[in-house]
Amino acid sequence: MSTLDDDCYQADAEMLPYLKGMDILKNQTHTVVGTEIVSLPKALGRVLAEDIQAPLSVPPHDNSAVDGYGVAFADLAPDGETRLPVTARIAAGHPLDRSAESGEAVQIFTGGAMPVGMDTVAMQEDITLDGDDVIIPAGLKLGANRRLRGEDIQKDDVIIKSGTMLRAQEIGLAASIGLGHVKVYKPLRVAVFSTGDEIADPLFDGVDAVGGGQGTIYDVNRYSIAALLRGFGCEITDLGILQDNVAEIRGALHDAAPGHDLIITSGGVSMGEEDHITRVVESLGSIDFWRLAIKPGRPMAFGKVVDTAFIGLPGNPVAAMVIFMRVARCLIMRMSGRTETDVPAFQVPAGFSMTKKKGRREWLRASLEINSDGVMQAHKFPQQGAGILTSMVASTGLIELVEDVEGVEEGDLVSFLSFGDMTQ
Ligand code: AMP
Ligand code: MG
Repeated sequence: MSTLDDDCYQADAEMLPYLKGMDILKNQTHTVVGTEIVSLPKALGRVLAEDIQAPLSVPPHDNSAVDGYGVAFADLAPDGETRLPVTARIAAGHPLDRSAESGEAVQIFTGGAMPVGMDTVAMQEDITLDGDDVIIPAGLKLGANRRLRGEDIQKDDVIIKSGTMLRAQEIGLAASIGLGHVKVYKPLRVAVFSTGDEIADPLFDGVDAVGGGQGTIYDVNRYSIAALLRGFGCEITDLGILQDNVAEIRGALHDAAPGHDLIITSGGVSMGEEDHITRVVESLGSIDFWRLAIKPGRPMAFGKVVDTAFIGLPGNPVAAMVIFMRVARCLIMRMSGRTETDVPAFQVPAGFSMTKKKGRREWLRASLEINSDGVMQAHKFPQQGAGILTSMVASTGLIELVEDVEGVEEGDLVSFLSFGDMTQ
């Protein structure tokens, strides 16, 4: 007599390992977006489409790091104070129109260009003025308080590589070399659907309409997935909720394909009679894999609708977000022209014990906490069900347990991936 096993993940042996699935996905995926020129203020969050090479050095001239008095180090007494006449005043943006002579000092302000012939600055706070002379105490080092030309950027350096998503830092760096416009990739055009007869839209079906008693639940995934896509700079088309109906799903996917680079659905990718997505996608294009040996998110699909890439996320809201971060993120980065980087995995001692089934990859919602000995530990959220969306809010990242792992003992090092690193 056969027995029931209430582990819905029992058939893992027949499923594709995570890394094999990712190899298939990576091999099929390349940059699909064109390029455009945008002004620097519009470039935040965009993906750079060419290397940026510096046409000049930064800073462009030696300059003072402080308010003070510029001198030639050679004029300073080796052990004793030095008195020099102050012959000029150099404010930032007002360089001296001659070279400095030996034996003179200049008053200079932060950012002021060092005159040729001077190499050292005494800080305002350290000197004494006596009439038109400055008295500089002993001990100033050669080059003190001077910033060198090119100490940040050398002319011809590649300062930002093609494929970088531009953050505030990169925007600032581009401005520092005088770049007003940059060549970036056009945004990836992504169509997003939810599926399920039970799904109601919080925007249009208010509490009164749903009432919680009609077997309906509110759509989470269209909102959370669109929010995630925004972090990757995508242009999103919200195509609403599809009923569990083959003809409706087929028509909607078929119509969405031409104007989009990627279609993302959630729900309807399991094996049930009401799960139509995989079959419909296969009939309109292809399914490259379906079901990975992972938890959460085992039923998920990757393929094509006609020529448009397709990702079918699981319906459970936690699983949908986790699979977005661990599978779809890679696809979206590659299609958007971004250089794909691995999410940094911090090795942190576990603050818990658990057993795990060998052969599948698991992600646990977790947070880093400091224990009473001052040691950082990773703690998993107590409820790990794929429908426990509060776990995503209470946690700061995922612990990734690879296929070989059969359990975790308190104190074992585990890989912690922060949500921040997986959502941009
Ligand atoms: P499915 O994969 O369609 O069987 O869905 C799995 C579970 O996720 C079911 O309990 C669904 O009601 C739920 N679900 C599916 N889509 C959504 C959605 N867009 N928002 C919230 N829950 C969903
Ligand atoms: Mg469903």
